[in-house]
Amino acid sequence: MAFRATLLTLYPEMFPGHLGHSLAGRALERGQWSLDAVQIRDFAEDKHRTVDDTPAGGGAGMVLRADILSRAIDHVSRDDGRPRLLMSPRGRPLSQARVREIAAGPGAVIVCGRFEGVDQRVIDARALEEVSIGDYILSGGEPAALTLLDAVVRILPGVMGNALSGVHESFEGGLLEHPHYTRPQVFEERDIPAVLTSGNHGAIERWRRAEAERLTRERRPDLLSQPVTK
Ligand code: SAH
Repeated sequence: MAFRATLLTLYPEMFPGHLGHSLAGRALERGQWSLDAVQIRDFAEDKHRTVDDTPAGGGAGMVLRADILSRAIDHVSRDDGRPRLLMSPRGRPLSQARVREIAAGPGAVIVCGRFEGVDQRVIDARALEEVSIGDYILSGGEPAALTLLDAVVRILPGVMGNALSGVHESFEGGLLEHPHYTRPQVFEERDIPAVLTSGNHGAIERWRRAEAERLTRERRPDLLSQPVTK
């Protein structure tokens, strides 16, 4: 069974978005994964199809109602083994390790929040896993869901043309990736590092490894103190 993504959103027209293009788009056309964007509003019961209400306790903004969102969730996910994710700045920061786990499974049900967020009771009652894509606030969960799916889809079997690319990437070995160079040999008086054109594969590997370690030490020392996830 191909990886199956179901999105719950107030803006289904935002999908597949950029995932309809390039490698992910071709894989979608070939049926190597599927995407279904479901309108949360279809589960409202009043004639204005209202999905939100004012926050209990007062304050600015609106909150997505638990009864409507839970109906939408129940409609699309019935113990099918897919994780139920809620895009949320309060969630666990998304990592390449979690991306790999999700990609290895049958798919994902992804709730996209809007307004101030969703009623806590639906998060608790449906055991939604809150996932953040970083320490900043978006206006809605849709771009966050597209980001998560982008990371997942590109590592599904058969999606990336060259199976080897992806092996040495940032985070895969607990390090940031080494720098890349290509022709021309000289660009604005800057040469490609000589070792890369030496033909000495052992030396090239060692240089890349040293550069990856240097960059990680300089930019992301926090990664060096984490257990390697491979
Ligand atoms: N009031 C909330 C923010 C709501 S932003 C708070 O302060 O925590 C509206 C919606 O955008 C959220 O429900 C969530 O689905 C999405 N969103 C915003 N920032 C996000 C982030 N960094 N990662 C994942 N989803 C995010």
